[in-house]
Amino acid sequence: MNKNIDERQQAVRDEVKAFAEKEICPISRELDEMPEPRKFPFELYKKLGDVGFIGYVMPKDLGGLGKSNLESITLIEELCYHDAAVGLLAAVAELSTHPIIYFANDDQKKKYVPGCATGKRIPSFILTEPNAGSDAASLTTVAVETDDGYVINGEKTFIMHGDVCDLGVLFCKIEGKPKLSAFIVETDQPGWQTRTLKNKLGMRAATTGAIVLKDVKVPKENLLGEVGKGFRYAMGTLDSARVGVAAQGVGIAQRALDESVAYARKRVQFGAPIAKLQAIQWMIADMATRLEAARGLTYKAAMMQDSGEKFSIEAAMAKLYASETANFCVDRAMQIHSGYGYIGEFSVIEKLYRDQRVLEIYEGTSEVQRLVIAGNIIGR
Ligand SMILES: Cc1cc2nc3c(=O)[nH]c(=O)nc-3n(C[C@H](O)[C@H](O)[C@H](O)COP(=O)(O)OP(=O)(O)OC[C@H]3O[C@@H](n4cnc5c(N)ncnc54)[C@H](O)[C@@H]3O)c2cc1C
Repeated sequence: MNKNIDERQQAVRDEVKAFAEKEICPISRELDEMPEPRKFPFELYKKLGDVGFIGYVMPKDLGGLGKSNLESITLIEELCYHDAAVGLLAAVAELSTHPIIYFANDDQKKKYVPGCATGKRIPSFILTEPNAGSDAASLTTVAVETDDGYVINGEKTFIMHGDVCDLGVLFCKIEGKPKLSAFIVETDQPGWQTRTLKNKLGMRAATTGAIVLKDVKVPKENLLGEVGKGFRYAMGTLDSARVGVAAQGVGIAQRALDESVAYARKRVQFGAPIAKLQAIQWMIADMATRLEAARGLTYKAAMMQDSGEKFSIEAAMAKLYASETANFCVDRAMQIHSGYGYIGEFSVIEKLYRDQRVLEIYEGTSEVQRLVIAGNIIGR
C-alpha cells in the first residue's frame, strides 16, 4: 500500500517517527492513564512547538514552517498513528489559529500568530455552547458594545484546550445584531472561568474545557474581521479542520491494520497462525480497502486546499468516510485481537477504540457532514 502521493510526505513520516519514538511512545500510556483531575501536557506541547509540529502549516513570516496542507495532514496522520491524542494537540493549534491567519488584520496576525505557531501560547477555537452544538448559529453568548470595546457574557463547552488556553477565537452575537461575530479573546483576565471536563472516553492527553464568561472585556481592536461574518469564518475554518480530522482517522486506521496484521501472523490457534484463516483475511482485506479509500479522499481534499480550489464537499466527504473507517478498522482490529485487544495491558487496540470514537462527533457530526454533502449536491 503506497502511503504517499507526494514525495515530501515520506520526509514528514520519517521526521514524525523519529520524534514519536523518542518523545511520545515512552509516555503515551502514562498520559492516557493520568488520574483525574487531568493535567494538560505542557512539556510535550513545548517539545512539539520546538520541532515545528505546532506551526507546521502556518506562514513562515508568522513563525510557522510554511508547509503545504498535504504535508500538514501527513504530520497529523503520522502523529495519530503513534498516539492520536498527541496528534490532536497539534491539530487543535492549527484549527484555533486558522481564523486568525485567514481573517485577522495584519496587526492581529503579528501579535498573536507567532506565539501560537511556536507553541508558546495555547489557542482555542471557541464555538460550541451547552445548548448550541450542531446548530452553532443558535448560540447565545453575547457581546455588548461599550465606549472602549465589548463586554462578553455567556457559556461555552467541549472546547479543546479551553481549560488552559492563553487566547481563543470566540464566536458570539453582538447585541442587536442577529448574525455571529468573532473575537480574539485573551484569557488572562477577570471573568474568564474554566474547568477541565472529566472522564473523557479517549484522546485524554489533550484536555477539554468548559468556559463561563462573566463581563469579560475585549478591546475594539480584537474584533476579528467584520461584524456579522463570524459564521462564515467558523465554517471556513471547519472545512480545513475536517481534513485534519480525516487525517486523524487515517492514522488510527493504519495503526489498527498494522497491529492486526502483525498479531494475526503470530497468534496460533488450531495449530496455525490465525492469518491463515479466511475469516481473518477478509477482515484485513476490508480494513485495507476502506483505509485506501479514506486516505485517497483525505489527500484529495488537502491537495484541493493547496491549489486554492473550493473544497467544502471534499472535506466533508473525507471527514465522514475516514472517521467511519477508523471506527470500522479499530472494531475489526478488536475482533482479530479478541481478548488481547479488549484488555489494554496487552495491546494498543483498547486505546485506539476509545480515541477514535470522537472523530464522528467533533468538527461536525457524521450526520452534519451528510447534510453538508447532500446540501451541496442536491441543494438546500
Ligand atoms: C472531545 C470534544 C472536543 C471538542 N472540541 C471542540 C472545540 O475545540 N471547539 C468547539 O467549539 N467545539 C468542540 N466540540 C464540540 C463538537 O463540535 C460538538 O460536540 C458537535 O458539533 C456536536 O454537538 P453536540 O454535542 O451538542 O450534539 P447535538 O448537536 O446536540 O447533536 C445530537 C445528535 O443529533 C444529531 N443532529 C443534530 N442536528 C441534526 C440535523 N440537523 N440533522 C441530523 N442530525 C442532527 C447529531 O448528529 C447528533 O447525533 C468538541 C466536542 C468533543 C466531544
